[in-house]
Amino acid sequence: MNLLDGKVVKKEVLENLKKELTGVERPLGLAVIQVGEDEASKVYVRQKAKMAEDLGFNFQHIKLPEDVTESELLSKIDELNEDDKVDGILVQMPIPKHLNPSVVQNRISYLKDVDGLTDINAGCLVHNKESLVPCTPQGIIELLKYYNIELKGKNVTIIGRSDLVGKPLASLMTNKNATVTLCHSKTKNLKLFTKNADILVVAVGKAKLIKEDYVKKDAVIVDVGINRNEDGKLCGDVDFEDVKEKVSYITPVTGGVGQMTVEELERNTYKAYCLRKSLNK
Ligand code: NAP
Repeated sequence: MNLLDGKVVKKEVLENLKKELTGVERPLGLAVIQVGEDEASKVYVRQKAKMAEDLGFNFQHIKLPEDVTESELLSKIDELNEDDKVDGILVQMPIPKHLNPSVVQNRISYLKDVDGLTDINAGCLVHNKESLVPCTPQGIIELLKYYNIELKGKNVTIIGRSDLVGKPLASLMTNKNATVTLCHSKTKNLKLFTKNADILVVAVGKAKLIKEDYVKKDAVIVDVGINRNEDGKLCGDVDFEDVKEKVSYITPVTGGVGQMTVEELERNTYKAYCLRKSLNK
């Protein structure tokens, strides 16, 4: 078994990004809007801020109260859309229940949508056109590329069909000529699909859901899940100890996919800057 080591890949990707940033005439601008006091969101925003600041970005952390109205939030997004020095905008999820996530996300200019969640960017991805792609799936592609794991002609099974992970990853991998099966909570006989997978991606959010008898010998396993197990430690959706002798590659949790997500956000900010520049917008 070999590890797909997110820390190693992240380092290389960031070094390449730093080289590209030397050609940019001003600090890139990244704005993250956080609504309310969700504890996990605070941790994620801090991680994003740290990496952005390390890269010399101008990072804005905009905190809005839990009871902010939808129109107030949309006005803030409009203001950032208009600001030439802001290259990327992200609204940290989850947002309070009285706000409609689809309305909020689609208010972000598709040219600044560094989470890749607007309908325009999601549609472009399906049509295999240049777009801003959600960070976690893009990070998984980078991880596989670094380890020379070919996608063309491979049977890929993805468990989980969220807009943030499973669906965009299915499009990315289909565009790279993999044969993709997308499973979810209504899938009957999950094992039938996982056992046939050369590459198995699990993005469910259920600790140790996938055991040894679900995986094919020498499969590549990408574990996206982040869960807390009984003793309070973080663990993935795959039972690492149970499968490790059977598989060829596997991402650890932590130190795997999670490492790639924030770094891809910073790359998307640069990509958004380049896109706007190429369009003179
Ligand atoms: P999500 O929106 O909750 O989606 C979960 C998906 O899993 C849904 O499609 C659901 O099916 C499916 N599912 C639930 N139970 C299942 C079962 N027993 N068998 C098969 N499919 C099942 O989650 P998400 O946002 O994609 O995140 C998934 C996990 O990845 C979470 O643990 C999250 O914390 C983690 N995550 C990690 C990163 C990272 O950077 N490492 C980034 C994003 C997410 P239905 O559609 O039918 O409900």
